[in-house]
Amino acid sequence: MLKRSATRAVAAGNVTIGGGNPIVVQSMCATKTQDVEATAAQARMLHEAGAGLVRIAVDSARDVAALAEVAARVPEAALVIDLQESYRLINEVAPHVAKVRYNPGHLYHHEREKPVRDKVAFIAETAVRHNIALRVGVNCGSVDPEMDAKFAGADEPGLEGVRAMVESALQHSQILDDLGFTRYVVSLKDSDPRKVVAGNRLFASARPDVPLHLGVTEAGMLPDGAIKTRIAFEQLLSEGIGDTIRVSLTLPFAEKWREIETGRQILDDIAAGRFRSVPKHFGEGLNIISCPSCSRVENEAFVDLAFSVREMAQYAKAHAITIAIMGCRVNGPGETDDADLGLWCAPTFVNLKRGEEELGAFPYETVLDRLKLELDALIARKQAATAMGR
Ligand code: SF4
Repeated sequence: MLKRSATRAVAAGNVTIGGGNPIVVQSMCATKTQDVEATAAQARMLHEAGAGLVRIAVDSARDVAALAEVAARVPEAALVIDLQESYRLINEVAPHVAKVRYNPGHLYHHEREKPVRDKVAFIAETAVRHNIALRVGVNCGSVDPEMDAKFAGADEPGLEGVRAMVESALQHSQILDDLGFTRYVVSLKDSDPRKVVAGNRLFASARPDVPLHLGVTEAGMLPDGAIKTRIAFEQLLSEGIGDTIRVSLTLPFAEKWREIETGRQILDDIAAGRFRSVPKHFGEGLNIISCPSCSRVENEAFVDLAFSVREMAQYAKAHAITIAIMGCRVNGPGETDDADLGLWCAPTFVNLKRGEEELGAFPYETVLDRLKLELDALIARKQAATAMGR
């Protein structure tokens, strides 16, 4: 068993996170929540693969009704809800789950006129009433804009956004503590493992008592997604940082169990001292980021698209170019901003971006051709800049 930092114990369903307990491996359903058959089947699959907690996204009253049905069909799985669109839905989802995750960045945007503290108080009071745990889930790409502005320029080059992410997590931890609510864990995620390591180290040094949920978000497809995750987990877990993990991979729905297998493999290797040296040039060439998909995915063709993009872009693998592929309009627009080329999916078309610039919407069948033209042009510009010594 890995040596853990002395975090407090947080009970969620039949698992306990932190407090020296074994690290909990968890995962998330990629199906549409309202497709009760598919979601129940995937929740069961993840539970049987060893997931201590199974997360499901809920954005609407219809999702809540579907969740209740899934919870009834798979009572053996401890469910966690990802709250995004309305924090007030916690009242309806809490009776069916063991834990709820909220994102401080998204919370900031709901009911803007209301103090953040009041919104957190509503969440915490509901959690107490229903005897469930919480996760404060901060993502580097969706930190609240006030925090982002306050800490702009505070990070070393390459670690932009980390201080804002950590301060947001510290702020919400303090609010919960002041409210007398301590049954929570924190996560600080990014698609860049270096930011995940820096953010979690900083948070753990300030709040060694708070259990941490580790993850590299949008890590992409195998094997790169597992390597990015391993880079972060090897460093953090070997320092005793981290109490629960999620490996976030873009996978065909029927293979979602591989997230659990990959997480267990990484934990076993670290516990046995088998640290995999990261390939020397890993991360220097083409970087493909893709989300693991979830209930919000606009079209299941997203997964095939991600694999097709990777295959098409192989000719560019020596170039330091980032392509991001996201499954929905909730996180897609923001989380593709930092990529050289970004794609985010709508139900019948795919939005293409060059950095923050929108290039238009293209049918699923033709977006790859347009992406290749953009990739060719980007490579040509980079080569011209190199030739001119810039
Ligand atoms: S980008 Fe959208 S579909 Fe993909 S995991 Fe995030 S919320 Fe889900």
